[in-house]
Amino acid sequence: MRLANKVAVITGAASGIGLATAEKFAAEGAVVAVCDVNKAGVDAAVAALTAKGGKAVGYVVDVTNKEQINAMRDDLLAQQGHIDVLVNNAGIVMDAQLVKMTEEQFDKVIDINLKGTYNMARALVDTMVAQGSGVILNASSVVGVYGNFGQTNYAATKFGVIGFVKTWSRELGKKGIRVNAVCPGFVATPILKDMPEKVLAAMADKVPMKRLADPAEIANVYAFLASDEASYINGAAIEVTGGLTL
Ligand code: NAD
Repeated sequence: MRLANKVAVITGAASGIGLATAEKFAAEGAVVAVCDVNKAGVDAAVAALTAKGGKAVGYVVDVTNKEQINAMRDDLLAQQGHIDVLVNNAGIVMDAQLVKMTEEQFDKVIDINLKGTYNMARALVDTMVAQGSGVILNASSVVGVYGNFGQTNYAATKFGVIGFVKTWSRELGKKGIRVNAVCPGFVATPILKDMPEKVLAAMADKVPMKRLADPAEIANVYAFLASDEASYINGAAIEVTGGLTL
């Protein structure tokens, strides 16, 4: 129960890594605010977590919508009195090479992955500063360290959320708030749903461990970073790749 008495907000928590993180956090004793644009997914996640004895409350929150973010924060604070962890996990891909990328593809990915991360942190930072404690974790990617073919927009956001980490950790460290990023390699989640089997197999083959990550293997890292066991880890971007980048 490493996260007992902690209240954690997780965005994009209806699917993939976010859902696995919500499950892990609940199992470690946290109260989890399950935030996602997908209402059916939020309801299903809350029902599943509650059925396993976890504490979860669901919110339909689009990370680009400040009214929804503020309403979630105010309701959660009224219920729980504190917010200890923010996992900025919500993210999308809209891939295209530079020669084919549309303005819509560029703007949408920046708006959700990059500005959405900023919107969430901006809305919750005053609460954490007033508490004198908090943890902010941003979902980056190996693409946020090395770039990737066909991912101009996505790479910019994943480099960007590491930029937030390097900046916020300097600004907020003295206020008792730690800020870190997690950079997964290939993780078997619905975000890869448009990838042909052949491409997925080729991706797995590039990893020394010869497989994609299970979402729970990323969730474990978020849980550690959110816990007091990671009390001196600040400003880091931690690669969790199975050795992909060696
Ligand atoms: P996923 O598609 O399974 O889940 C993403 C969730 O985000 C969905 O539930 C979706 O409804 C939600 N979402 C989308 N737009 C939103 C918005 N505007 N507001 C709130 N919620 C929104 O994806 P995943 O693979 O679990 O990815 C989670 C995070 O991890 C993303 O930031 C992704 O970039 C990052 N990541 C994933 C991989 C991978 O291989 N799967 C690798 C590196 C990094």
